[in-house]
Amino acid sequence: MKEKKPFRFSIFFKLILIVILFGAFIDLSVFEVIKMSTDTREPGPMRRAEKILISLIGNPPDTVRARIFCKDMGWNMRYISPSFKWTSSDSTPTIEQLSKSTGFAEKYQAEDHFVYLYNSLPNIIYKTPTGTYILQLLNPHDVFDEQRAIVSLVLVLSIVLLTFYFIVRKLLKPLKLLSVAVQEVSDGNYYINIPVKSHDELGELAGSITSMASKIGDSIKAKEQLLLDVSHELRTPLTRIKLGLEVDSPKEKIDEDINEMETMISGLLESYRSESNVEVLNLSKTDISVLVSDTIEEYLSQERFKFLTPEKHEQLIIDEEKIQTVLRNIINNALKYSSGDIEISIEGDLRFVKIIIKDFGVGISAGDLPYIFEPFYRADHSRTRATGGFGLGLSICKKIMDAHNAKILVTSEPNLGTEFTLVFNKQR
Ligand code: ADP
Repeated sequence: MKEKKPFRFSIFFKLILIVILFGAFIDLSVFEVIKMSTDTREPGPMRRAEKILISLIGNPPDTVRARIFCKDMGWNMRYISPSFKWTSSDSTPTIEQLSKSTGFAEKYQAEDHFVYLYNSLPNIIYKTPTGTYILQLLNPHDVFDEQRAIVSLVLVLSIVLLTFYFIVRKLLKPLKLLSVAVQEVSDGNYYINIPVKSHDELGELAGSITSMASKIGDSIKAKEQLLLDVSHELRTPLTRIKLGLEVDSPKEKIDEDINEMETMISGLLESYRSESNVEVLNLSKTDISVLVSDTIEEYLSQERFKFLTPEKHEQLIIDEEKIQTVLRNIINNALKYSSGDIEISIEGDLRFVKIIIKDFGVGISAGDLPYIFEPFYRADHSRTRATGGFGLGLSICKKIMDAHNAKILVTSEPNLGTEFTLVFNKQR
């Protein structure tokens, strides 16, 4: 069954989200700054200019002068008083028209002088005791405070960009931690802890690097241990040979020690050799029941084997020789680590074929169980001549099974026994 991955936001998604949010925020700020710099402008200089304007054209205005003035300035003007109404152009809004748009009536009540945007054009409303002037500015630049707009924009953009910088920095901070961790690994510290908690690709990468580094560390440790084991094991017969030669021991005894050394070295070489060509499969259709029977027959201690399902003639396309190596490794272990019966059975349904090998021996502790398929891992750390191996057998089995796209599973209870199951997918 496919493993369901926990939900996470990818880095790409987070970056896109940040870019969209900040883009929208920048647009909004620019829009607000422009609006702010247009309609909330301090009316000081304008107020002085209007005083001069009114002294020039009069209050109520001299319409001839007012018309010349409007033409020169590029403005429209409307004057409203109880006794006199005049406009330089009919496109200048009236108080009634202005009052229909939002906020105008309140502003008109409260203030004598203000700028009001109407039909996208700024209008200066100027109330005097005698009448009200409406000056429609046809060129928006007349009331747009560029300096104020630039300062506000620079301020807003600096805040936005600074926030953007800190958020992206926080998002990518794990990269720095990862690079420090990788440096540590290259300095030879394989047991690292990368404090990356994010639930995205970087979090996953941190997890992978941590487990990869610790696996490399374990493997290096195991190889060092193997080197020690091998040297130790070879030294024992070597010392016996040396002593034997000094005291003129019988030739057979010396031969026995030389043979022991030879077996040990060829066993080690054999393990390495089978590990190196594990990926290349020589596939053929095979009857699993026949394969199991043939393998059992190779052993002298026939009476210990109980083949429970010899009639289960399941067919599989496999590399016969390699799967036999797997069976031999598991059976050899069962023989080594138990003294009673070894039960073998085959199960099959539409999708899977299983080969189950069960012994009733010393078993494997829960602490060792997750590691027994790793190269050079041995659960009983003392290598005795009886239990022999170098911890390579099961790691080779796992590689062969992986190459077949099949699984090797194990369950075990200390002092009760161990059960290995080989699971082959029929639809491979
Ligand atoms: P080895 O050559 O040392 O047996 P393996 O890779 O075949 O190496 O096995 C790894 C370790 O798993 C063994 O050292 C042993 O401790 C444990 N093991 C494997 N099979 C069994 C079993 N049937 N019963 C108990 N322990 C087992």
